[in-house]
Amino acid sequence: MAEIVHPLRRSVFRGLAGHCPACGDGKLFWKYLKVNGRCEACDTDLARYPADDGPAYLTILLVGHLVVAPLLFFPIVWRSNPAYSLPVILIPLAALTLLVLPRVKGGWVGMMYALGVKDTDAALHTADAAD
Ligand SMILES: [Zn+2]
Repeated sequence: MAEIVHPLRRSVFRGLAGHCPACGDGKLFWKYLKVNGRCEACDTDLARYPADDGPAYLTILLVGHLVVAPLLFFPIVWRSNPAYSLPVILIPLAALTLLVLPRVKGGWVGMMYALGVKDTDAALHTADAAD
């Protein structure tokens, strides 16, 4: 099991803000979801912290539970014509998901940094353990 090697809360919040979890100054991403190889401010190797599919699952979990499930309590969703209601619901939902995903990935990378989990820790990858 991974031990906390850096302050967890600080690292996660720096990642959520899109900053390097080590120093908080450098940018974490160089594209939408592409993590910088090295921090431009403190030279921390950011590429070695694996995110895999975790941020996508967590984003779906958050958006699904905080937006989609409460939305189903509104009768207008059930009674309206799907030709009109689906675009009105799905387009903002997709935009929200795309807005949340990089923040969740940043927080995820910050958590991996705090826990000291690197891409070389293959024993922690369950898919590899199944082989
Ligand atoms: Zn840094």
